[in-house]
Amino acid sequence: MVRDADSSEPSARTDAGSPDAPLWSPGTTGPHGRSDAASGTDPEASGLHGSAAGPEAVGLHGFGPGLRPDLLVTGGDVVTMNARREVLAGGAVAIAGDRVLDVGATSELRNRWPGTPELDARGCVVTPGMINAHQHQTGDPLARAQIPDDLPPGASIDTWAIPLHAAHTAADDALSALLTCVENLRNGVTTLVEAGTVAHPHRVAHAMHTAGIRGTIGTWGWDVPGAPFAAPAPQVLDRICELIETYPAGGQVEGWVTLVGHGLASDELLMGAAELARSTGAPMTMHLSPSQSDPEHYLKTTGRRPVTHLEHLGVLGPHLLLAHAVWLDDTETDALLRSRTAVAYCPWAYLRLGQGVTRAGRHAEIFERGGRLALGTDSGNAGDSSDILRTAALAAGLAKDMRVDPTVGLGAAGALELATIRGAEAIGMADRIGSLEPGKYADLVVHSTTGPQWAPRGDIAHQLVWSSDGRSVRDVLVGGRAVVRDHLCTTVDETALHTDAAQAATDLLTRSGVPARSSWPVIPAQ
Ligand SMILES: [Zn+2]
Repeated sequence: MVRDADSSEPSARTDAGSPDAPLWSPGTTGPHGRSDAASGTDPEASGLHGSAAGPEAVGLHGFGPGLRPDLLVTGGDVVTMNARREVLAGGAVAIAGDRVLDVGATSELRNRWPGTPELDARGCVVTPGMINAHQHQTGDPLARAQIPDDLPPGASIDTWAIPLHAAHTAADDALSALLTCVENLRNGVTTLVEAGTVAHPHRVAHAMHTAGIRGTIGTWGWDVPGAPFAAPAPQVLDRICELIETYPAGGQVEGWVTLVGHGLASDELLMGAAELARSTGAPMTMHLSPSQSDPEHYLKTTGRRPVTHLEHLGVLGPHLLLAHAVWLDDTETDALLRSRTAVAYCPWAYLRLGQGVTRAGRHAEIFERGGRLALGTDSGNAGDSSDILRTAALAAGLAKDMRVDPTVGLGAAGALELATIRGAEAIGMADRIGSLEPGKYADLVVHSTTGPQWAPRGDIAHQLVWSSDGRSVRDVLVGGRAVVRDHLCTTVDETALHTDAAQAATDLLTRSGVPARSSWPVIPAQ
């Protein structure tokens, strides 16, 4: 539904670029980080920032009648993703501290709060910040495009990913995470769920804070004898527990119960992790069944298929986000839906690795049956790009093509729901993020429409998902803080980051001993 919120500012006007007054005042805080504390727009310095202490504090807590916005995002077509999925043509978003104060007609909000600084979004499309529900922040980012795409099943993990992870220093984790956060922000992702393969979680959490992205953090959780970062189940659970206490719910970075999953956890660890999630309220995530290897392993070792075994152990439930869940039978699909277990769907990874999503995937069915589903981009050599709009287009396309039926419910509009409000619901944060509504965090994306993919303008959902992608992301706000402006990260010196990453990548690849391979002969020709 499109509502004409401000007919005085037609949505077809040219992108007006930067506002005159910059919204931040960069100051270096480290080798890559910048700080905007001096400008007074740092959410850490805002009175509202500290109020985010859980669902009871979300809503309109602290929103007194005299509250004024710090910023109006004006003149864009605001895709609210509210319950009625309203789009406000030429609308505005009023932001106070780290929250959305109101959404409405630009003229109305200007009249109510005259003199408020504005971010000019005329001609642009404004969406909620997008959610990446499965993202490895370490291991692959410094080895981007290095793992061959023609390896036999498992070799990319055993020969490449595990040695790379094992060779990571704490500094590598910090650099990798910063690269990942910047790429996600530049693609309009404002919340990411770490997939749970981090050796130095505090360094990663620090990088997330530096970049200014919202998200969750976990650490390696497996009790496989002799594997890197492995430990007996009680020690793994203690390690996770400490992380949850350090990064409690409601912060910009939240600690989650993360296991590697697959067939790499004992029943004791699986049950202990689920109990920890239930007792602390911190959600749990783990990998399961992206390919046929997990069903084969579980049938051999337990006599049950993977999801059926988790149900038998009492591990399923609304606290659990399973990454992948591609190879499911009818009983497993029903168990996921019945238990309200959520799924992070990373279709590019299954295509890159040839894991069989076109043959076995049930994600469109889970979507149509009202299941909890989000999108993810997995890792730098399995999914590769952190562009969640690209992922949304693939999810919608696969849903239609796999059934040879274009009427399947998961089209562009449904895919955008997965990237925003339904994704937020799947990761348990729909009370805080996923839509532009009063009381929610001011996490939003301004998409420029100056590119050829927007000419001429058509249906907004179709154009965002089928035509556009992360290239259009001009500005990104997380908790009211401008972390991307004019297509560049404001919080991180991207040039310095890329220079340091190149050197660290060379060192890491040498140290890890992974085989060097090139698709074509590369000849020095200077
Ligand atoms: Zn993964």
